Amino acid sequence: MQFSLVIQTSFLGDVVLTTPLIAELARRGPVHIVATPAGAPLLARNPDVVGVTIYDKRGSARGVGGLANVAGELSATRSRAANDGAGEAIAYLAQGSVRSAALARLAGFRTRVGFATSAGRWLYTRRIPYRDDRHHAERLWSLAAESADASPTREQLRPRLFPGGAEREAVDRLLASAGHGTSPMIALAPGSVWATKRWPFYPALARLLPAKARVVVIGGKDDAPLASEIVTAVGDRAIDATGQLSLLGSAELIRRCALLVTNDSSPQHLASAMGTPTVTVFGPTVPEFGFGPLAPQSRTAGVHGLDCRPCDRHGPQHCPLGHWRCMRDLGAEMVEELVAQVDRESP
Ligand code: SF4
Repeated sequence: MQFSLVIQTSFLGDVVLTTPLIAELARRGPVHIVATPAGAPLLARNPDVVGVTIYDKRGSARGVGGLANVAGELSATRSRAANDGAGEAIAYLAQGSVRSAALARLAGFRTRVGFATSAGRWLYTRRIPYRDDRHHAERLWSLAAESADASPTREQLRPRLFPGGAEREAVDRLLASAGHGTSPMIALAPGSVWATKRWPFYPALARLLPAKARVVVIGGKDDAPLASEIVTAVGDRAIDATGQLSLLGSAELIRRCALLVTNDSSPQHLASAMGTPTVTVFGPTVPEFGFGPLAPQSRTAGVHGLDCRPCDRHGPQHCPLGHWRCMRDLGAEMVEELVAQVDRESP
């Protein structure tokens, strides 16, 4: 038996990709998570999680005072677990900053596990190799692996999300208001925080998709202008869900779709958790970074033979060379061909 603390305050996709690690640790005892206000809702109803501490590191808990307050909360949580007989308390630094490592140390976790390449590594007591050749879900899972050579099964690597009744009802309402019946749905997620990762040909792709399918646009409220371009392209065939659903609501909607076409951004990871086949468009980044789709039958699209690609771990806001060929050279027909391949293979 052990009590595990997992600190994951990175991007939304990272939270989703941490769920296999959480599932692994739950086999050994209770698991408590530290997440951001944005990331915490992704853990709702997760049966592998006994509690979540929200760390608003850029808001209400910023600075040394905020760090100390959250550390105090975690210390109390650790003490309660010890009183309940939870065994050794171990912190897993799924997010590798010095701040996260300091949080675990201030909270009294004597064993701190993280990647040997992380900024906070000098505060770790156990350093795990960061394997560039592995998917990030597997890298995170390896923090809890018994040996450096261990490999997870496909089932162990499956990300997990748990939309509930509220999310199902929200999706039911949205589809009913769009007059949706029984026709198949194809989801498009045209947004990304990083401008160079936003493939510009979603409206053209929407026109090429089978006429029998409804086109569902997934995203936050900031993605509404991109959605309206798609609605303009295909009219009533489009269902604009941007800004209308929670993250788990979007996951539930993606679950009901036959397929998702997305940029290298968080909807891809929602689809991985819901098992929806995905075509991911990579521009300045590449699948080899370890953040590709995990759902069966998924495909990736990208321009090959471009010397400048990849140019950034995340994707810059502007193409440093100005031409943005990693996206402009990837036409709608090329992505539609991958969509057709997935469609042919689907049961
Ligand atoms: S430098 Fe190359 S990879 Fe980077 S954004 Fe420009 S075209 Fe894309």
